[in-house]
Amino acid sequence: MTDKELARHIIDRRPVACSECGGKLKYEGGGEYKCIECHEICYDEFGKVRKYLYDNGPSPAPEVVAATGVSNQIVIELLKEGRIELIENSKFFLRCEKCGCSIRYGRICPDCARRLADNLDQAMKESVGEKPKIKAYSVTDTHKTEQKMYYYNTNKHK
Ligand SMILES: [Zn+2]
Ligand SMILES: [Zn+2]
Repeated sequence: MTDKELARHIIDRRPVACSECGGKLKYEGGGEYKCIECHEICYDEFGKVRKYLYDNGPSPAPEVVAATGVSNQIVIELLKEGRIELIENSKFFLRCEKCGCSIRYGRICPDCARRLADNLDQAMKESVGEKPKIKAYSVTDTHKTEQKMYYYNTNKHK
């Protein structure tokens, strides 16, 4: 599965109706959806993993996969997105996509990120144009930092 297919898969598996009464769901953030009829909470793939780690603390991978029914690939994708992270002394690490060094979450290591930013700066300097006279808008994901608090332990020996 490619990264794009995985992201699609997560979206496809979002709950569409309340599991209790079939009522409409409202997104509450952090992978949680609340039924507007009976107030039951439903979870998407990220919500299930997040809740499990929140309730049980850092947990070994097979346990999380077995308890939540979320596939290992999805969990890896959540790590790459930085939504959950590996505990400090984990024996399992993600690989930086640029240099292959170990990282706890995300896709590239801080060193490569800095190098990329430098290259970008250079590229920018070479192709600086004139600014249009309109304001730029930016969107910030307010949930992102809050979601990073959940840890994931892939160490099987306890
Ligand atoms: Zn309901
Ligand atoms: Zn790197």
